[in-house]
Amino acid sequence: MKKISIVIPAYNEEENVAMIHQKIKEVFSGLNNYDFEIIFVNDGSRDSTQQKLEELAEQYDEVKFIEFSRNFGHQPAVKAGMDQAHGNAVISMDGDLQHPPELIPKMIKKWEEGYDVVLTVRTYPKEISFFKRKTSDFFYKILSSLSDVNLTKGGGSDFRLLDAGAVEVMRQFNEDDLFLRGLTSWMGFKQTAIDFTANERIAGKSSYNLKKMVTFAFTGITAFSVKPLYLAAYLGFLFSAISVIGYGIYVVHSFVSHTEISGWASLIMTIVFFGGLQLIILGIIGIYLGKIFKQVKERPNYIIKNKNL
Ligand code: UDP
Ligand code: MG
Repeated sequence: MKKISIVIPAYNEEENVAMIHQKIKEVFSGLNNYDFEIIFVNDGSRDSTQQKLEELAEQYDEVKFIEFSRNFGHQPAVKAGMDQAHGNAVISMDGDLQHPPELIPKMIKKWEEGYDVVLTVRTYPKEISFFKRKTSDFFYKILSSLSDVNLTKGGGSDFRLLDAGAVEVMRQFNEDDLFLRGLTSWMGFKQTAIDFTANERIAGKSSYNLKKMVTFAFTGITAFSVKPLYLAAYLGFLFSAISVIGYGIYVVHSFVSHTEISGWASLIMTIVFFGGLQLIILGIIGIYLGKIFKQVKERPNYIIKNKNL
């Protein structure tokens, strides 16, 4: 019998873990030829998630848990689950039921058809306004153009199935700044995608705020591409060219009209503008430098305090 491992990162999900286990169990009771395990990764929750997980594990053999020593973040939690999974395929999904378990049979079917990676693409629920959709699409388009991997909706959500072979490849990645969505798209294999509509979070609150989303976007760009560094060089060339042309115009003007061009305000503005631009570019270089600094220390992505598998 083939085994499917379900990896679920859980940060303060005390109200949700039992429910999601129940739902997944129901889904698998309709799938006769598959065995399953659910690996909950408790990412340093401050509530009673760990206690709930231990109770569940006592009652059900298929429930496994990994407890981190502190909060390491969503991506390291998913990675930890995949590192420990034994299944012929591994599905990662959120612990708040925003990723509908009913989609699992569809994903397995695609896997059986020969796909190594089955991504899911989140489509917007009807209630979300046209304006919000468009602005969000636009935002991701810009980000994607700055990165070498697809960050748009088409790049998939964190709800996906990987064949054991692809999981084995994923285990070998040793990068500090994990961006699994990008890594999945980067590693290739035979991939396909299916659509789903995300549900509302059933209980608890989302821990992704704007700051985290911006950091996530930055990671998506800087972990996969050095385009921003090229951008700095291109801007340098552009402004040098403009200044050469401007200087030419100035020289010709002063010969022809015999008058000085006055204006200290424009001069100050120009200095401030280029001061700002230089700081931005220095910052971009700094971001990459910081990443190198973190990577050379080779610290682990996560630390496991306790586990039952
Ligand atoms: N999560 C985690 N560590 C964190 C933050 C979140 O393991 O530091 C988990 C969380 O329990 C959930 C998933 O990651 O299963 C997605 O988080 P959330 O629902 O807060 O994000 P959103 O759905 O709003 O993007
Ligand atoms: Mg959520």
